[in-house]
Amino acid sequence: MTAPDELGVDYLEVRGLTVDFDGFKAVDDVDLTLLQGRLHFLIGPNGAGKTTLVDALTGLVPATGLARYRNRDLLALKSHQIVRAGIGRTFQTATVFEQLSVLQNLDIAGGVHRKAWRMPFARRGVPDYVEHALETIGLTDLRDRPAGILAHGQKQWLEIGMLLVQDAKVMFLDETVAGMSQEEREATGELLRRIGQERTTVIIEHDMNFVRSFADVVTVMHAGKVLAEGSLAEIQADARVQEVYLGRAATAIEEGV
Ligand code: ADP
Ligand code: MG
Repeated sequence: MTAPDELGVDYLEVRGLTVDFDGFKAVDDVDLTLLQGRLHFLIGPNGAGKTTLVDALTGLVPATGLARYRNRDLLALKSHQIVRAGIGRTFQTATVFEQLSVLQNLDIAGGVHRKAWRMPFARRGVPDYVEHALETIGLTDLRDRPAGILAHGQKQWLEIGMLLVQDAKVMFLDETVAGMSQEEREATGELLRRIGQERTTVIIEHDMNFVRSFADVVTVMHAGKVLAEGSLAEIQADARVQEVYLGRAATAIEEGV
């Protein structure tokens, strides 16, 4: 295989990643190579370790192994240093400030790259990168409304906008389209395709129709380990994957659910 370095793209390389909760390995010796420009989907049953893997790569739980990004080992960094290194994530439950406006939410998120003395809100006007993020996520017209009034899908897009203003080059999206309407899912997939070109994107997802529409690469996790990786077609053809996970999901795909 061609090394990512030779392809001239950014990448995150994970080797032997293990998260041990008092003897229980929620993530167990995981190897992953995540390349820029691909929508990389992470699937697997509940409890497989998907969220814990992201927690480990974003400094929220201690882990062993290696997670190399631009010649730095993320496992040696604190979570705020990881954000500054260009790694961003969303959470399974939305984390926007409901009382604050869309714009204020973006402004606060963008604060990670501002000097401490330049307080949010105190500055006049809207910085270009915030305007740009608003346009990208399609919330320009709602920028002065409280985030609390946003529809479910729009809140998730605001979270993605918060990653954009943080200048996240690696984005982990934890079940972002869960609970979205079909229309919102389509819009989200298109959004991720647009912004994913220049980023490394990892999407945790259960909806196999969404995976089929947008995945470039699929990694299946089970019991803390990587069970299989490849295109969706390759994954679906894998007997072990069918056994532990896709049995029901595969049926759903055939039925077009
Ligand atoms: P997924 O996101 O794939 O559904 P998780 O990463 O949330 O799975 O959880 C993987 C396993 O690790 C589960 O069995 C869960 O109960 C366990 N787990 C997660 N966080 C902790 C923790 N802080 N302490 C102990 N066990 C945990
Ligand atoms: Mg999870």
